[in-house]
Amino acid sequence: MDIRARLHKEIAARRDDLIALTQDLIRIPTLNPPGANYREICDYLDRRLLRAGFHTELIRAEGAIGDSDKHPRWNIVARREGKAPGQCVHFNSHIDVVEVGHGWTTDPFGGEVKDGRIYGRGACDMKGGLAASIIAAEAFIATCPDYAGAIEISGTADEESGGFGGVAYLAEKGYYARVDHVIIPEPLNKDRICLGHRGVWWAEVETKGEIAHGSMPFLGDCAVRHMGAVVAEMEDSLFPALARKRTEMPVVPEGARQSTLNINSIHGGEPEQEEDYTGMPSACVPDRCRMVIDRRFLIEENIDEVQAEIRDVLERVRDGRPGFDYEIKELFRVLPTMTKRDAPVVGAVSKAVEQVMGREADYVVSPGTYDQKHIDRIGRLKNCIAYGPGVLDLAHKPDEWVGIEDMMQSAEVMALALHDLFGG
Ligand SMILES: [Zn+2]
Repeated sequence: MDIRARLHKEIAARRDDLIALTQDLIRIPTLNPPGANYREICDYLDRRLLRAGFHTELIRAEGAIGDSDKHPRWNIVARREGKAPGQCVHFNSHIDVVEVGHGWTTDPFGGEVKDGRIYGRGACDMKGGLAASIIAAEAFIATCPDYAGAIEISGTADEESGGFGGVAYLAEKGYYARVDHVIIPEPLNKDRICLGHRGVWWAEVETKGEIAHGSMPFLGDCAVRHMGAVVAEMEDSLFPALARKRTEMPVVPEGARQSTLNINSIHGGEPEQEEDYTGMPSACVPDRCRMVIDRRFLIEENIDEVQAEIRDVLERVRDGRPGFDYEIKELFRVLPTMTKRDAPVVGAVSKAVEQVMGREADYVVSPGTYDQKHIDRIGRLKNCIAYGPGVLDLAHKPDEWVGIEDMMQSAEVMALALHDLFGG
């Protein structure tokens, strides 16, 4: 039997195991925020991977954003050496899931199986991908026990809230220095290879005014009206300019194949009162207004241009409005990243997709960022992709599910890629 047939057989024999593993993972509610049950899921993965012959390490991201004694940021890194030294292939999955939200018809932490799907919060994003990578590694080890190299599987905290207590922490501690290839089984669909993501720039813009009695607004200066002028200027000049900036990055969905800007929030004047406050607001001219913007940018743009564009908007408003004053503060930045198509991990996975699916893989880029940003920037590793089962559109939605056949096929792709990356 050739290697593909042997791996196929090993994975087929593990179908029930794959389902049970996915269900077990879903049944540990690792909600983030606040970052619940990270230790429990790491202990579970620890037992599983020890049985498969991995050496494991549980690592708490002490001092990282979000880490506390109540909600410690636990991570697991497991490594299995082959018979001879060689390259290291690392599968990284985040263990956290987002809030449940409303509209579920199944138990979000039940792991119910129905019509070939497993339901639950995190089923597709990304406990199904984590389970598929574990089954892939176990099937590969059973098929090729004499491989040369090392397989690593990590389960990491906080991807949904920036990854600082997870992959960023591990990368800072040097865990990616010993790694050659990274596959992140995020739900990008079983036949698509995600090469990277657009850049992000979050900033806070504040306009200033002067407080006065609301019955005599002319004695003050309304910061909300100033902000209104900023929004109007954005509508007139910035949004159309962003829509014209198209990218060569294969971003999906199609609508994100350009620069975008979201006005995340605007707060001006008196803060919202507690729900149990039954009184009226007081009459004041707002002296401060804050806007948070979320700008997503392209590999063709640089961060200085992105910042200058916003400053230009504000300066144009200043030119036309007496008394207009503002401040701008960066909150967060991530540069765009895109792994080259001739990178070894891309080649191995695309070949495997072709073998398993009988058609060429699609190459995509994510509209938003994920943990690849830390592997790229802190870990300095460019040979990294996201590849895993599940439909991206279902992530964070009610009745989230992952298809069992999709998981089986992508496990086969991952196992074949291992075989290829270890030199066949
Ligand atoms: Zn995810």
